[in-house]
Amino acid sequence: MRIVSLAGGIGGARFLRGLQAAAPEAEITVIGNTGDDITLFGLRVCPDLDTVMYTLGGGIDEEQGWGRAGEHHVVKEELAAYGMEPQWFGLGDRDFATHIVRTQMLGAGYPLSAVTEALCARWRPGVRLIPMTDDRAETHVVIHDEQGRRAIHFQEWWVRLRASVPAEEIVLIGADDAKPAPGVLEAIQAADAVILPPSNPVVSIGTILQIPGIREALEAKTVVGVSPIIGGAPVRGMADACLAAIGVETTAQAVLELYGSRLLDGWLVAEQDSGVALDGVRVVARPLLMSDPAATEAIARATLDLLK
Ligand code: GDP
Ligand code: CA
Repeated sequence: MRIVSLAGGIGGARFLRGLQAAAPEAEITVIGNTGDDITLFGLRVCPDLDTVMYTLGGGIDEEQGWGRAGEHHVVKEELAAYGMEPQWFGLGDRDFATHIVRTQMLGAGYPLSAVTEALCARWRPGVRLIPMTDDRAETHVVIHDEQGRRAIHFQEWWVRLRASVPAEEIVLIGADDAKPAPGVLEAIQAADAVILPPSNPVVSIGTILQIPGIREALEAKTVVGVSPIIGGAPVRGMADACLAAIGVETTAQAVLELYGSRLLDGWLVAEQDSGVALDGVRVVARPLLMSDPAATEAIARATLDLLK
């Protein structure tokens, strides 16, 4: 069975681990979000691709959900001692090596998709991981603070401000001119099924869907999604602040309607959201907390069952 899954960071990566356990024989292609990517200290950082790569490759800090296990922060401390900004973004020493390799390869002219493949040769995540695009398309957030109305990089809003200032708009700058990375549309066309994991519906899944051609390709396939919203709240993170910015309620029902029945054929919700419904979409309620490997595998299995 050929499965394509979109993915953001933590929610997507954890689900994918369950999917691998539930369908060990499946050939899985992951289309990763790159809207969160940022250049820091001259280095290209791709947080969501790395979260997927480290999680599936056994290098993730399990507790934190992102970054490397057994991490040290000497480089970060030394940069801070020079007064280098930003100091609000956590980069560990082991993680720095990934960004150095990536930046060097990008500088030599390799597209991000080729760089990601090269990084994965070390981590062997057991899936084919492709960035949504090789082009630069970065999420920016329009806020209004004492400095007036301005757009800041998504990471500054998410990490530095912890989404405490309301987002007036969330914009994927460069989206219109971005093309799906090589292999993305081919993988979708060849897929028996497509999964939208419980990733952020706005800045992870929503971003991937904005790359011209991807949504249209997905609409032609059987697509099932897993709700990242349980009982009116995100499980972790601040997806509610992202949904508010686009005028969508933080409920499993509203996210279902946001994706819509042209895209979705099935929607997995938590048991407390069993009333959720939309014409043309099969909705099933199951426990949706990825609390341990067995629970996560059961969620993936329920997702695959929705395809039957
Ligand atoms: P990020 O890029 O690291 O923020 O990660 P994603 O976009 O992949 O996922 C973030 C989303 O995962 C959040 O909206 C959470 O609500 C959702 N999430 C995290 N843990 C769980 C879980 O155990 N169950 C479900 N259903 N959703 C989860
Ligand atoms: Ca992310």
